[in-house]
Amino acid sequence: MHIDRKAQWVVRQSGLPTIVRRCPDCSSTRHHPSGKIRVNANGKLLDVWLLLSCDGCARTSKAPVHERVHVSALKPARREAYEANSPAMVCELAMSASLATKNGYRLDWAGTWALETDTPNPALDGPGPLTVRVAFELPALVRLERLLMLGLGLSRPGIRRLVAAGRVQLPVPVDGKVHQDFEFTVAGAAPAGLGRLVEAPRPVAQQVRQDMLALAAER
Ligand SMILES: [Zn+2]
Repeated sequence: MHIDRKAQWVVRQSGLPTIVRRCPDCSSTRHHPSGKIRVNANGKLLDVWLLLSCDGCARTSKAPVHERVHVSALKPARREAYEANSPAMVCELAMSASLATKNGYRLDWAGTWALETDTPNPALDGPGPLTVRVAFELPALVRLERLLMLGLGLSRPGIRRLVAAGRVQLPVPVDGKVHQDFEFTVAGAAPAGLGRLVEAPRPVAQQVRQDMLALAAER
């Protein structure tokens, strides 16, 4: 009997990404939001900046959010959040990939998240498939391989074997990155007699192929 199993993983937020850009005053490239948003009004035009603090020397710098935007172009709630230095708004701006691109800085997501699973180290050798839904609490760029290692409790070679055996279909290549909700399924282990696919890694097949090629070349 095949039993379909389901698991839910959540990428929980544990911090804000580091904003990576050059500091004019010291050798550090790491910045975090100071917690303040500056709004300057010039008639009906607004300038809005996210204020950043250098991790090395605490120098404050500004990252433009809006430049000479007409006041009517901003939703009142948004403008109020800017003016009140709303922590949620600071958080949103600090995590914004589009703001990072616009301002030419990089976001470093290391140490900003932790994986929470409802089934730690799930058994993968059963006959039924395991479907995993992954939800993101923050748009952190996460290496898929690392996520699978944490969630499935496997080593890097273990993950590579699973992928090489075709037992798992992934939304991006295993060495790629993910940042939003997705679902994947790990197929059940092959029936006895065929051997367990997870223990028949591709390198063996490759080795055989290489040996055959070497033999062919000798002839
Ligand atoms: Zn500095």
